[in-house]
Amino acid sequence: MNAIPDRQQITWVAAASIAIAIAVMAIKYLAYLKTGSVALYSDALESIVNVITAVVALITIRISARPADRRHQFGHHKAEYFSAVLEGALIIVAALLILREAYDALQKPRTLSEPVLGIAISSLATALNAGWSIFLIVWGRRHRSPALVADGWHIMTDVLTSVGVLVGLALVWLTGWLLLDPLLAAAVAVNILWTGWRLTRESMSGLMDEAVASDINRQIRRLISSNADGALEVHDLRTRAAGRAVFIEFHLVVPGQMSVAEAHAICDRLEAVLGREISGAEILIHVEPEGEARHSGVLVL
Ligand code: ZN
Ligand code: ZN
Repeated sequence: MNAIPDRQQITWVAAASIAIAIAVMAIKYLAYLKTGSVALYSDALESIVNVITAVVALITIRISARPADRRHQFGHHKAEYFSAVLEGALIIVAALLILREAYDALQKPRTLSEPVLGIAISSLATALNAGWSIFLIVWGRRHRSPALVADGWHIMTDVLTSVGVLVGLALVWLTGWLLLDPLLAAAVAVNILWTGWRLTRESMSGLMDEAVASDINRQIRRLISSNADGALEVHDLRTRAAGRAVFIEFHLVVPGQMSVAEAHAICDRLEAVLGREISGAEILIHVEPEGEARHSGVLVL
């Protein structure tokens, strides 16, 4: 029932995400052409973010998930960071395009040509997006895929932005206050800039081999300390996250007289428990005799 989806299913969902994002962008662009509204233009450009995100998701599934090979012996996990940095750059370009257009419209306020038709067309795109985001959240939860659930929520926030834009346009139409249109567009642009910045920053930490979050670090230390009976000490624990993989390495101090086979058995036990509890764990353990003890680091209980 709650099976983890296979790669084929996930690939289909990722491909459908791309198709829907392109359709939504095209419909929103049509709404902009019909009205000349800068706010609708910004909403259409914002959809580029979703098109790119969906493409990156597909790349991640196809490249990052590839097993390690002779030329990439630690796997292909970082492929998604390259795509995400590119994504961040494109998002920032989209935001700047919107700001330029909004500035233009603030200088020379434009009357909207067919506001009602534009609002209707754009509502259609927003409904399509809302339906897809609900599907992603429900399907992702059922198949225990946090990435898909996160995508679903991301699209849901876009739906809220679009609703805000539509309400604003209705107000422009009802009140005739033309400056509201570029002001709305500028607000959307600032929101997009923020998304682009956050995304770029996250990818940079991945490329810079950032350590795992402190709660996962605590969990790793607890698992090591309660599963290393026979060993004396663990020190120099280092972690780095790369996409879905978590690289963990440490020194394991054992009594100098212990046989290699016994020390290896402790390592196997630690590798098994860490591999089971920490998702994506790749573990390397360096065994040392007691003369190397530092009397610091992780205590063995
Ligand atoms: Zn050491
Ligand atoms: Zn081994």
